[in-house]
Amino acid sequence: MNKKKDIRALTKEALRDFFVENGDKAFRGNQVYEWLWSKASHTFEDMTNVSKATRAMLEENFVINHIKVDSMQRSKDGTIKNGIKLHDGFIVESVLIPTPKRTTACVSSQVGCSLDCKFCATSRLKRMRNLNPDEIYDQVVAIDNQSRLYHNHKLSNIVFMGMGEPLMNYNNVIKSIEKITSPEGLGMSPKRITVSTSGVPKIIKKMADDEVKFNLAVSLHSAIDEVRTSIMPFNTNFPLDDLRASLEYWYEKTERIITYEYIVWKGINDRKEDIQALVKFCGYVPCKVNLIEYNPIDDGEFQQASSSAINSYISNLEMHDITVNVRRSRGKDIDAACGQLANKS
Ligand code: SAH
Repeated sequence: MNKKKDIRALTKEALRDFFVENGDKAFRGNQVYEWLWSKASHTFEDMTNVSKATRAMLEENFVINHIKVDSMQRSKDGTIKNGIKLHDGFIVESVLIPTPKRTTACVSSQVGCSLDCKFCATSRLKRMRNLNPDEIYDQVVAIDNQSRLYHNHKLSNIVFMGMGEPLMNYNNVIKSIEKITSPEGLGMSPKRITVSTSGVPKIIKKMADDEVKFNLAVSLHSAIDEVRTSIMPFNTNFPLDDLRASLEYWYEKTERIITYEYIVWKGINDRKEDIQALVKFCGYVPCKVNLIEYNPIDDGEFQQASSSAINSYISNLEMHDITVNVRRSRGKDIDAACGQLANKS
């Protein structure tokens, strides 16, 4: 059986120790670490500044579980959806979203998802497993390469809005962000990273305690418990009062505003009281609201609300000095938009 270890599960210290234990110098560990992370090598063969014998020794002991871009679809609007094959055969999806000034990578954090939001295609896949830090990191590297190739500039932003609930895979997400932001990794600023969650209060508090430096977005969709539970059943376990308390804690500790993602659906949350509840909820913690266009997923149960309902949301929020943006969807023709990631290809 294959007893080789995943080399990227090792810290830099452990890698340095490995070389010392094998009669080599500790700094060999630094060299290999650099190949593994900042140079994102797929093979030991690449590591040309270490001897052939060392490379063979690494080959004998370790594997690099690199992801593979298995399929790639390009939308008319420049959006690219990648089917990413993991070492054990599972597929996740990562999306490159270009605008004239920047490109954003939308990455997955789990195979499938542990939540069961009724309006989201990914929820039908169930959670198969969490992604490892290196599997998240690799998605970012792959999209950075595509950004340079197709758009002539490097990746500028990252959103954890692909498949999965990032806060249900918190440790690995944090480790991946450490690598993405470290000068020994990609050296990106945490200010350009947004983690989007359906809202797991305990973990939001932990993030505040951990003094994370990235941005937080919460998929709210309703500020009324009954309504939210009907479309996001896990709200039963994490009701809005608990979410609110965790967000107040977050703001107290980080002083960083929260983004609420919000879709308005016909007959679900397009009433006056829905708007009033959102305005009230926005009063608790400094925030802004992104109204997201709904991307239908086959069954037709959910439909985007009328423009008058959406305009009513906008005017009410603005009347209360709450910043509101309307987010148009990208890559719809290739099912790459929010909530459409379900391995259709
Ligand atoms: N689990 C995380 C991240 C993945 S979802 C979260 O819930 O935030 C990323 C965003 O897409 C969320 O705001 C989610 O509510 C939204 N979304 C899900 N399905 C959608 C759909 N069909 N159309 C538009 N947005 C959708």
